[in-house]
Amino acid sequence: QQPPKAGFVTHPLAVLQPIQYDRFAHKGTRGHALLGAGSTAMMGAAVMATHAALRSGAGLVTVATEASAWPLIQQTNPEAICAAKGALANESFQLQRRIKAIGVGSGWVADEEHIQLLAWLLENSSVPLLIDATALSLLVDMLPILELAALRIPIVLTPHVGEFDRLFGHSNNHALRLEKAIHMAKHYRLCIVLKGAYTRIVLPNGHVYFNSTGNHGMAKAGSGDVLAGLMTGLLAQGYAVQDAAILAVWLHGSAGDAAAKAMGTEAMTAMDIAKHLPQAWQHLN
Ligand code: AMP
Ligand code: MG
Repeated sequence: QQPPKAGFVTHPLAVLQPIQYDRFAHKGTRGHALLGAGSTAMMGAAVMATHAALRSGAGLVTVATEASAWPLIQQTNPEAICAAKGALANESFQLQRRIKAIGVGSGWVADEEHIQLLAWLLENSSVPLLIDATALSLLVDMLPILELAALRIPIVLTPHVGEFDRLFGHSNNHALRLEKAIHMAKHYRLCIVLKGAYTRIVLPNGHVYFNSTGNHGMAKAGSGDVLAGLMTGLLAQGYAVQDAAILAVWLHGSAGDAAAKAMGTEAMTAMDIAKHLPQAWQHLN
């Protein structure tokens, strides 16, 4: 057996090619992302994930969330389309709208409705699936269907350390946790994005990339929701899972660095990370 390859990625262009759109691209060819995010007390998560998805380059972003929050979503993100939560478990909706990737969990609560939505996606989705936040907690009881789903579609998990330990058991230190992440990524054939300083991107083949961008000003509520929206938007454009993960994590950290430069690590907020994605894209090239 080959040992896992570990790389310290200083720049995504060293390992991937950004998608080049031609002069005739239109919103239908740039990919349609579907986000399942937000609940009554955490609707900001949907707002931030949506904002980041809209700055990912995707042509269309639809947010499936509580109807009571549609005015909020549309006031904060007028480019987004709102849908009922049921759209996440509606195959004809997804086919008709040409949904190319689905990201779920940011700002969700752990209740029966969300368990059903996640289970439906694991059993039926035909497009890449990103699982974040509360949806990761729900996965604890769904590991067998997760395993089957990963045979059919690419799946990315985006846990922070606490979420990773809740899902796969406690590790006493970062080295042991990374070892476990490599094991789980290979066993379940997942991409696991283990978030924090120097976010580790663990591929289904056990290879690991470390991210170099970002700062402690990003250690604030909502930062992860921005990453989830951004990565779902890249997946919707057709980036391979490994490229979407590496590029999203790098851009997210770089946007955090631009926000820190403009506003300072104390005052910057998660929404400021999303608002600085334009600078991150400019730094990429
Ligand atoms: P979450 O805990 O889900 O909100 O995710 C936090 C996000 O902020 C992740 O993308 C982390 O990688 C990032 N983050 C948190 N703390 C730091 C840090 N000290 N340095 C760089 N990135 C960080
Ligand atoms: Mg989070």
